[in-house]
Amino acid sequence: MVNKERMKKEFEKLISFDSESFHEREIYNYLKNKLIELGLDVKTDNVSSKFDSNDGGNNIYGFLKGNVEGESILLSSHMDTVKPGIGKKVVYHDDGKVTSDGNSVLGSDDVTGIVEILEALYQIKENNLKHPDIEVVFFVAEEPFCVGSRYFDYSLIKSKYAYVFDLSGEIGTIAISAPTILSFDINVIGKSAHAGFEPEKGISAIAIAAKGISNLKLGRINEYTTLNIGLISGGTVRNAIPDNVILKGEIRSSIHEKALETLDYVITIFDYVSKEYGGLIKYNSEENIHAYKVSSDSILIKNYQKALDKLGYGKCNIIDTFGGSDNNNLNKNGIEGVVLSSAMNNVHTKEEYFYLEEFYKAAEIAIKLVTLDI
Ligand SMILES: [Zn+2]
Repeated sequence: MVNKERMKKEFEKLISFDSESFHEREIYNYLKNKLIELGLDVKTDNVSSKFDSNDGGNNIYGFLKGNVEGESILLSSHMDTVKPGIGKKVVYHDDGKVTSDGNSVLGSDDVTGIVEILEALYQIKENNLKHPDIEVVFFVAEEPFCVGSRYFDYSLIKSKYAYVFDLSGEIGTIAISAPTILSFDINVIGKSAHAGFEPEKGISAIAIAAKGISNLKLGRINEYTTLNIGLISGGTVRNAIPDNVILKGEIRSSIHEKALETLDYVITIFDYVSKEYGGLIKYNSEENIHAYKVSSDSILIKNYQKALDKLGYGKCNIIDTFGGSDNNNLNKNGIEGVVLSSAMNNVHTKEEYFYLEEFYKAAEIAIKLVTLDI
């Protein structure tokens, strides 16, 4: 049902590109031409101009006109990898396991997803399979908080539903939710003075920061939300009262409003403590990704299960995730999407691996989903 040799070759080809985030120019050029070759109408944007790099790629959108009536469907995956992703090599093991040579990540995150989508398009073309309208989007710069998909022009997309092939775990795993992630910086400002001659004139920014942090509940602060301060820097010399501290932190919550409430909580405490000491704070925050949750009776889950049934691959495993993907941006822009396991494990490490059998299964599922042969 799938062309296994071609999938392996395609995987090797895509892995051969050094496509760390913001350096996807080569894989972008290759995939743009590949989609054209497969008969899609292809549009690209100019998102790389927003990033500080001279070999970035752009988001690729492809449209394949349907030959039957039916709900249009969007498939997506991302072109970038994390570091270390230069000089990636594919190593095949006797038991069907595929790894890197140990010097870099493998890049199955998310090249497996791309190859599975391409294989579905190949099969449609070669076997004249019946299918509704299909849209494909390959995003750049997913790993650094999905900035590639953040700037995509969603008015291009007509599908109401999307499958994103970008999830670790066994085939059959489907993620239906992901959190909001907020990052924040707090600048605590005190007043410097000589620590020995006139300490009374100083206001210690370090003391303010310490008291602020000790008043915070950190870690898992409720059922939905985590709070972390991961970086602290400040002060200049041993014998001066420090007038400056920078704190960098992160909030995650599966409920967007709770993430915002938590940011308020942090700022209120630091504001109170700094006033108590006669100092002040400045802060800024950024929404990295926005939470979504797809209903448990979504047609996407039903169709995924039907595809698994048709192939004899068992019951799907529905999970909630606490990390983001391009699917956060799809949902934020009104497209109901879920994330499907694409055959990858131990991602973001040099021990990343997948099994060929799982890889082929994921492509078979992709074919079923887009041909509505379920
Ligand atoms: Zn990924």
